[in-house]
Amino acid sequence: MAKRKNNNVLTGGKEPEGSMASGWAGQRGDVMRDEFGLEIPVESVPLPSKGVVYAPDHPLHMQETVEIRAMTAREEDILTSKALIKKGTVITELIKSCLIDKRIDPNDMILGDRYALMVALRITGYGSDYTVEVACPACGERSRQEFNLSQLPISRLSKEPIAAGSNVFETIMPKNKESDPGIVIRYRHMTGADEINITQMQERKKKQGFQTDNLITTRYQHQIVAVNDITDKTKIQMFCQRMPTKYSLALRKAMDENEPGIQMKQHIQCPSCFEESEVSMPLGASFFWPDTDR
Ligand SMILES: [Zn+2]
Repeated sequence: MAKRKNNNVLTGGKEPEGSMASGWAGQRGDVMRDEFGLEIPVESVPLPSKGVVYAPDHPLHMQETVEIRAMTAREEDILTSKALIKKGTVITELIKSCLIDKRIDPNDMILGDRYALMVALRITGYGSDYTVEVACPACGERSRQEFNLSQLPISRLSKEPIAAGSNVFETIMPKNKESDPGIVIRYRHMTGADEINITQMQERKKKQGFQTDNLITTRYQHQIVAVNDITDKTKIQMFCQRMPTKYSLALRKAMDENEPGIQMKQHIQCPSCFEESEVSMPLGASFFWPDTDR
């Protein structure tokens, strides 16, 4: 294996602090060479969580970056595997396949870190230009817009967990009066395993003919680990359903503001009404399969 140089796919080789700079294109960093002499670039990807949420015995504990190798045709097999698509584990398998350190299980990784890897892999496979149809928030008209993936800003973890190496954070619910101690909620950021679990649970319910429009409470049930001193799952589930919207709003705000990840937003100008607005970048089929869109 060639000598390693920090070739940061999302920050253009710069240190992970700050926003994503000019991108990786044109940079020759580190490569792996196989028996055919094919060069497979190795890239270092910044972890939005800075590794703070992983336990001391986890390979990503306090790691600011993680190494991947570029996508190859083998990963295209993963992307098109009907079995994996059905199971909802395409992204997990894709990340697993490209991680250099095979001790890392992408299921344990929080979603923000997984998104960073997903975007980095897309850049290694198909470049940083991503064209996708988005609806204009002002007039609703859909238009094709280009996103530059290497320019997406990183939101790094800003709030410390209750202990280093734990994925548990604390927030206090709004108080009715000053003397009120306020309900303390402890929550965790969702991992790849949580996401798969939620999707499969929803699928099961749908098959059984149940309504599946309880995304908010389902998400809370996965994220809340304690309400004051109560850690019992059934009681937390009850709390999730009964909590006033005032709490729900405050909780969501606390969780979102502190969620590390990639900001998938960009300003667009609508070709129909010429209004300029900020839109979320949709993760369409063309994200990993650029030609299906043309
Ligand atoms: Zn418009």
